[in-house]
Amino acid sequence: NVRVRFAPSPTGPLHIGGVRTALFNYLFAKKHGGAFVLRIEDTDQNRYVEGAEQYIVDALNWCGIPFDEGPGKNEKFGPYRQSERKHLYKRYADKLIEDGKAYYAFDTSEELDKHRKDHEAKGKTFIYNWHNREKGRLVNSLVLSEEETKAKLGAGEDYVVRFKSPQNKILNLKDIIRGEITIDTNVLDDKILFKSDGMPTYHLANIVDDHLMEISHVIRGEEWLPSLALHQLLYDAFGWKAPQFAHLPLILKPTGKGKLSKRDGDKMGFPVFPLEYVAPDGSVSRGYREDGYFSEAVINFLAFLGWNPGTEQEIFNLDQLVSEFDLKRVNKAGARFDPDKTKWFNHHYMQEQLDLELAKEFKASRDTLEQIDINYIALVVGLIKERATFVDDFWDLSHFFFEAPEGYNEKAAKKAWKEDTDELMRELVSVIEGTEAFSAESLSVAIKDWITSKEIGFGKVMMPLRLALVGALKGPDVFDIMFMIGRDETIKRIEIAIE
Ligand code: GLU
Repeated sequence: NVRVRFAPSPTGPLHIGGVRTALFNYLFAKKHGGAFVLRIEDTDQNRYVEGAEQYIVDALNWCGIPFDEGPGKNEKFGPYRQSERKHLYKRYADKLIEDGKAYYAFDTSEELDKHRKDHEAKGKTFIYNWHNREKGRLVNSLVLSEEETKAKLGAGEDYVVRFKSPQNKILNLKDIIRGEITIDTNVLDDKILFKSDGMPTYHLANIVDDHLMEISHVIRGEEWLPSLALHQLLYDAFGWKAPQFAHLPLILKPTGKGKLSKRDGDKMGFPVFPLEYVAPDGSVSRGYREDGYFSEAVINFLAFLGWNPGTEQEIFNLDQLVSEFDLKRVNKAGARFDPDKTKWFNHHYMQEQLDLELAKEFKASRDTLEQIDINYIALVVGLIKERATFVDDFWDLSHFFFEAPEGYNEKAAKKAWKEDTDELMRELVSVIEGTEAFSAESLSVAIKDWITSKEIGFGKVMMPLRLALVGALKGPDVFDIMFMIGRDETIKRIEIAIE
C-alpha cells in the first residue's frame, strides 16, 4: 500500500524545488494507486509565516497535483498540521527516555557556545555525542543522578530531550536513488528531539508522523540526506519498520554551479516560485502563473529536473508522467535549471490551449479589446499563437487585426513601396472590390491570378499590401488578415497607404 507525503514547513512561499518534490511524490502515488498526503510541519513557531500554508495548497492545486489527504481533506490520519498534533509527541519522547535511548539535557546555550569555542581553539569540531556526554563536561541526565535530574525538572529548568546516538557502529542505509550509504555513528551528534516548551523538533515529529500516517516511501530533497541516519536510528529505537527513502537531487543554477536560488531568478529574469508571493513585509516575488506560464509547462519542466524517461521524448502531460515515472530513473547528480527550456515548453503547451480560453485571457488583459467579440479574438488567436510563448506576446503579434497601423516601419516601407507601387495598389483595390465572395481563399485566387496576368513578381504586390495592412512586413498570411478585418477596412488601409 503506497502512501507518500509532501511535508513542507510553512516558512514562506514554496520554491520550485519544493513543487518538484511534491510532483515526484504525486507521480509515485498515482503510479502505484496510492495516496498523496500533505502534512504541514509547523513545529518551529519562530519560522511560521502567515499565509504560507494557503500558498502551498494553492500552488499544488494550480499545478494540478492536489493532495488526497491533508488539512481539511479526507482526514482519516489527521490532523495533518503538526501544531495540532502537539499533544501526541511527548509520550514518544518519554518512551525513548524510559528505554534509555534518549535523555534529558540541561546545557545552556552559553555553555554549549563555550564548548564549541574551546574545541575550535584546538582545531576540532564539537560534537554533542558519546565522546562528550558521559564525561561530565555536559549537563545531562547521563552524568547527573536521578535526584538531580528530577530536581532540575521540578524546578522548571529549561531542558531538551536528546537522542542517544550509538557509539562505534557502522550503519548501512538504503536509498532508492543512491543505493547503499554507509555511515559511522561516531560522526553523529545527539540531536534534540523535544524541548521544554512542549514542542517536538522536526526529527521526532517527522518520524512519529510518518509512522502513524503509515507512510511507505519518503521522497524528499537531498538536503535531508544527512538526517537519514538519525531517522533510521529512530525507527529502530521505536521498533518500527522504516519507510523506504528516496532523496531527490539538488536543482542547480543555470550555470550548473551551486544551488538555484531566488537571486538567480531575479538576476536573470525568471521566477523560482509557482505563484506570485506577497510577503508579510509587502515585498513581491514573481510566480510562474502570473508570468504567463501554463501549469502543464511547469509540470513538464519540473519532471525533467532530475528524472528522464530514458528516451528522446520531452513532452509529457501529467497522465503520461504518471505512467512513465520511475524513481529508479531519477539521477543522483544535481539537475541544472534551464529557464529557456521552460519557455520552450510553454510555447509547446500554448499550441494545445483552446483558442477561446486564450482569447478570454487576452481580452481580459487589454482595455482595447473590451468591445471586441470574443469569437473574433479567438480566430485571431488561432492565427498567431504559433508565434507566441505567452499570452503577453499576443498584442504585438496581432494588433493590426484590431486597429489600423498608426505608422509604417521605415525600413519596411523603403523596401516595399517603390515608384510604381501607388499605381499597383490602386489596381489592387479594384481587384479586391471585384471579388465576389470575400474569403481568404477567393482573395488569394483573385489576387494571384491578377499578379500572374501582369507578369510581375509577387513581392511587388504582396509586400506593400502587407505593409498597408500591418504597418510592417510581419504577421500571418495576408489573405487571412484581409478576410478577418473585412473588405471595407482592407480597402481603407490600402488607400491610406497610397496617400
Ligand atoms: N519539513 C521538512 C521540509 O520542510 C520535511 C522534510 C521531509 O520530507 O522529511 O522540507
